[in-house]
Amino acid sequence: MIIVVKANVEEKDMSKLLELIKKCGLQVNYSKGVGNIILGLIGDTRALDVGLIESHEIVDKILRVQEPYKKANRLFHPKDTQIDVMGSLLGGANFGVIAGPCSVESEEQIISIARDVKKSGAKFLRGGAFKPRSSPYSFQGMGLDGIELLKIAKKETGLPIVSEIMSTEMIDQFNQDVDIIQVGARNMQNFILLRELGKLKKPILLKRGLSATIEELLMSAEYIMKEGNDQVILCERGIRTFETMTRNTLDLSAVPVLKKKSHLPVIVDPSHATGMWWLVEPMAKASIAAGADGLMIEVHNSPEEALCDGQQSLKPDVFDKLMSKLKAYALIEGKVI
Ligand code: PEP
Ligand code: MN
Repeated sequence: MIIVVKANVEEKDMSKLLELIKKCGLQVNYSKGVGNIILGLIGDTRALDVGLIESHEIVDKILRVQEPYKKANRLFHPKDTQIDVMGSLLGGANFGVIAGPCSVESEEQIISIARDVKKSGAKFLRGGAFKPRSSPYSFQGMGLDGIELLKIAKKETGLPIVSEIMSTEMIDQFNQDVDIIQVGARNMQNFILLRELGKLKKPILLKRGLSATIEELLMSAEYIMKEGNDQVILCERGIRTFETMTRNTLDLSAVPVLKKKSHLPVIVDPSHATGMWWLVEPMAKASIAAGADGLMIEVHNSPEEALCDGQQSLKPDVFDKLMSKLKAYALIEGKVI
């Protein structure tokens, strides 16, 4: 529920109103606009006596909003949120490209890819150290050794590193070593993990679950933000549908919907969305047209030998050509890569 309060009200009148709201066990998101003050009520508003609120003279109107997310809602934060990671910006006019292998495999591999993607204009290096695989017999990632190799690649290139966390046990380690902590599709609704990540002051890349609605994605962002961490990046990575020609179905319409509903940056991962390297280029271009703030693209120096997701990884020279095109596409949308 939203209460629109008239501008220039006396403090004692505002205190009275706030007291009444808090007595009902609700939290208030306070936002001062040019011509009014907007109070976003957080919590179960069913017990609230709307008539009693309306009786306060300072109240202009009461709006019932359907949206249960408040902190992620653009209504309370009209300006786009920009995330600053070691000086590299994501969001607003800055189109950020995160690139790198599905998983870290060796020092030579990650350093060579890091150098290549940096040369092509990527601002962030991705690399999975802990891999959520469907089969327990598949390569599970290098674990903490992988994080150490990412740190070496960061030292070599200066690129901030992005890696996926799978459990709360790893939070301290990731908080110390990783620049953007990724929550994968399979953990989008791991609420205990989300809550703990909300206590950090670290950007969180939140991927949409395989069968999650847009609202569920926003509610998961809300779990993180409710604890105080407002640096959340949303990622559309394709959803499960009846279609089998592609690994997932890229829900591109989710991008403008998310941008309309939320102030958080929205990026697209065309690699996991399509599952095929030759589909990455058209979908990356389309993502820019749809209004995305960035992309996450898998790049591997030798895809045919990759331990994970080689079929959807671009070779460095293909990535380089794609980046040249994307820079021009981004300019049309008023963004810079
Ligand atoms: C990944 O980015 O490596 C990954 C596993 O992605 P998702 O969680 O979207 O499947
Ligand atoms: Mn992958």
